[in-house]
Amino acid sequence: NLFHCRNMHLLLNKTLVNGDWISANCKKELAVLNPVNGNIVGNVPDMDATDTQFAIDSASKAFYSKGWYDLTAKDRSGLLKKWFNLLEVNKQEIANIMTAESGKPINESLGEIAYGNSFVEWFAEEARRIYGEIVPSPHPQKKIYITREPIGVAALITPWNFPHAMITRKAAAALAAGCTVVIKPAEDTPLTCLALAKLASEAGFPKGVFNVITCSRSNAPSVGDLLCKSPLVAGISFTGSTEVGRLLYEKCASGIKRVGLELGGNAPFIVFESACMTKAINGAMASKFRNCGQTCISANRFIVHESLYDEFVAKLTAAVNALVIGDGKESNVQIGPLVNEAQLNKVKAIVDDGVSKGAEVIVGGKELPDKGQLFYAPTIISNIQPNMRLYTEEIFGPVVSIIKFKTEDEALKIANDTRRGLAGYFFSENLSQVFRVARRLEVGMIGINDGAISAAEAAFGGVKESGIGREGSKHGIDDYVEMKYLCLGSL
Ligand code: ADP
Repeated sequence: NLFHCRNMHLLLNKTLVNGDWISANCKKELAVLNPVNGNIVGNVPDMDATDTQFAIDSASKAFYSKGWYDLTAKDRSGLLKKWFNLLEVNKQEIANIMTAESGKPINESLGEIAYGNSFVEWFAEEARRIYGEIVPSPHPQKKIYITREPIGVAALITPWNFPHAMITRKAAAALAAGCTVVIKPAEDTPLTCLALAKLASEAGFPKGVFNVITCSRSNAPSVGDLLCKSPLVAGISFTGSTEVGRLLYEKCASGIKRVGLELGGNAPFIVFESACMTKAINGAMASKFRNCGQTCISANRFIVHESLYDEFVAKLTAAVNALVIGDGKESNVQIGPLVNEAQLNKVKAIVDDGVSKGAEVIVGGKELPDKGQLFYAPTIISNIQPNMRLYTEEIFGPVVSIIKFKTEDEALKIANDTRRGLAGYFFSENLSQVFRVARRLEVGMIGINDGAISAAEAAFGGVKESGIGREGSKHGIDDYVEMKYLCLGSL
């Protein structure tokens, strides 16, 4: 019985494979816990490599012999639109499930659902615009055509921090292109994925087109191994940690498999001398504290000009002290728990490492056991040095670490002093500086005087060790199509 929702029909304990709702032969169940209080939200099948093989076979059959690929683009677009409409109608119920399994405040869950749904709408539209090319030929008797065709079965492996949007951003693009999908959601948040799958089946996607493998962390390596190595899987799209991404990339090498990776970041957030303080504080709060800082594009290192440093710290401290912390099902709550114990321990260890090397806690820096087992206080910490984990690693928690700088070159050197390159943010009212810095920041996405940059229309992705490929935008289709060149001769 979840919150105030009547007629819940999307909280499921079975998963969708080959058009059937199955319980993995009743082998084992995986309990999904509410991070606020440890209560069980639901149980899902803990599927293994055998179940995964069946899902891959089903997706392959649906692609090759059941004609998903042979539907017109307009028909595929129509099914995606139906799915979008059902996702919109059911957004409150999905939000309740998401908040219960992830701890995300309910308003943020609703925000993520609006964002996640927008990918389904966007790719429903893009489905009809996957054009080929006719190229002027150098030979009078030959014509050159280039078509763009779906790659086949796409395996999608997703994380817990955006249980809905990370799935739709991949699945809607793959389905629009004409691929069939096998989705492996994160073990912490499979219930949101099953709700999406239920609505996909209500929308009428043919059997085997949309398959979900729910499994525990202990089964993830064998499931992942098969998805990467099966010759029936044409491509893998993964969002998650750089460590797991690297592993999957290696596994895909033997089959020369198509790989799309959205990995971790270490986003700089630079406040230059000319910055508007109100914009910078609003941007900092939006970028750092969304989802309790558990976002791959969260600002990670705040690099603040010395002339604004004291004012920035004072104003940010006031904003942090005003945050409402608690159970995300209450509509005024802005900060929930971290998703699980491993995340909490990681955040604690990163902060403790900094403190032991001379970092100074301005506010927070501790757990909040009164709120629950997995709560960590919104924190501001200064005197950050390059030898600290606060500088070198993605914190993935509600921790602002601040570094002072004097010159633009110095700020850029600090910002680029990482192997990660996902998002970056900077605040400046100096037009020349805006273009100069935008060009030199080594990241895939930049928020300029803005802390909330995501949109279905925009190209999401990173450089360096933050990933390969782009999601969203018209380029989001590229991971799921292959070019084919036709030479028409003897004309
Ligand atoms: P996070 O740190 O956000 O949990 P991970 O990279 O650990 O990110 O997890 C992201 C996704 O990758 C999850 O669905 C998880 O189950 C999956 N995963 C973790 N390890 C493996 C693996 N060895 N093979 C395949 N998938 C994996």
